[in-house]
Amino acid sequence: MQVDTVLSNARICIRGALVEAGIALDEGKIVKIAKDTNLPAASTKLDLKGHIVLPGLIDCHVHMRDQQLAYKETFFTGTSAAAAGGVTSVIDMPNNKPVTMGSFSLKERMKLAEKQALVNVAFNSAFPKRLEEIAEVVKAGAVGFKAYLSSRIGGIDVDDDELLLAAFREAAAQGVPVAVHAEDREIIEEQRRELEAAGRNDADAYVKAHPPEAEAQSIRRVLRLVKNSGVHVHFCHVSSALGLNAILMAKKEGLAVTCEVTPHNLLLSSGQYGISGFFALTDPPLRTQEDVSALWSALKPGFIDVIASDHAPHAFEEKNVDSVWEAKPGVPGLETTLSLLLTKVNEGRLSLAELVRLTAEEPAKIFHLSKRGVLEEGNWADLVVVDMKHEHVIDSSEFFSKAKYSPFDGMHVKGKPLKTFVNGKLVMDEGEMVSESGTGHIVRNMLI
Ligand SMILES: [Zn+2]
Repeated sequence: MQVDTVLSNARICIRGALVEAGIALDEGKIVKIAKDTNLPAASTKLDLKGHIVLPGLIDCHVHMRDQQLAYKETFFTGTSAAAAGGVTSVIDMPNNKPVTMGSFSLKERMKLAEKQALVNVAFNSAFPKRLEEIAEVVKAGAVGFKAYLSSRIGGIDVDDDELLLAAFREAAAQGVPVAVHAEDREIIEEQRRELEAAGRNDADAYVKAHPPEAEAQSIRRVLRLVKNSGVHVHFCHVSSALGLNAILMAKKEGLAVTCEVTPHNLLLSSGQYGISGFFALTDPPLRTQEDVSALWSALKPGFIDVIASDHAPHAFEEKNVDSVWEAKPGVPGLETTLSLLLTKVNEGRLSLAELVRLTAEEPAKIFHLSKRGVLEEGNWADLVVVDMKHEHVIDSSEFFSKAKYSPFDGMHVKGKPLKTFVNGKLVMDEGEMVSESGTGHIVRNMLI
């Protein structure tokens, strides 16, 4: 037997434990993990010099933009950024132009992604206007739905509990999760009106307009709907102790909820606005050091399920404005997540097992990405080789993303993705893209 590729002299992270072994890849899949001497012959052989192999990251919160927002990012630039950051699958969010909110718009995005993607791309759709269409969207391959409770995106009025409940029930019937941006629209808009009237337009005003109570109230509202619908809700980018506590209570009750945090909410606090200005602006915003500590204390015992970047690229001019109300919230994250987290592993704040659970195993489970997220024979060969000792300073001017800014600019990190393999093919090697567009697959749900 001769396989495509053998990676030898590696330390492989298998279900959280490091095993000294090699790994054989053939026709896109992992065909053997064994001691180097027991691996088959291969057309390509690579000595990994003792470096660690992790499952490629599955980033379940990514805004790929493209279409009419291609000036911010395209599937090509976005998936290049992913490969550079050791991310082998992304889940795209629907707040696009046009909004992904039905089987037609979903298929259009899939067509576009298929030609350009260097890593795997799966899709979340917004709810369509007619709830009967939900089944069609799932049949077209959406891995989940995204509901924005802070603004009107998609086909249904998210302020209407009855409608939202009906949509949740239909998603539950189709077996897909609903990712929720939980922030109460009325609280935010009222706060904003008052602050604007008082002449405020600074970053701190934005933080005030998005209080923890807006997050917590929205989460509590969604939890009531979860109880009555049986849907799996995945709370996106939880940012406050108050919001987190509401989720933890629900988890204790045994509700089917999961939650994610972003690297920026885990590693930065609102003091960062004084340094990065609106370039650090995100929605939800950076919060207090107490909120940051609360996220860490929930992360360690496993109450947080996922770390996702919320990669939300914007053009430089959309950030470089005078008033915070004009600034677009969102930061690029695909190229910084893994190095930032490896730094925490090196500091002893996070274990490799936790990193893998939060960035690969759990997102694969929640969004039913079949045969991904775990390094084992028979699974897709999506993996990242990391150098734990490599030290560098984050420099957004080197990003593959079109968004050349980052609140992490200038931060010293230790740990770096060296090589990224997607579906058995080497896509990124030492910071260079070495594969052609189309290496990534369109990942559809496997429910049909
Ligand atoms: Zn987002």
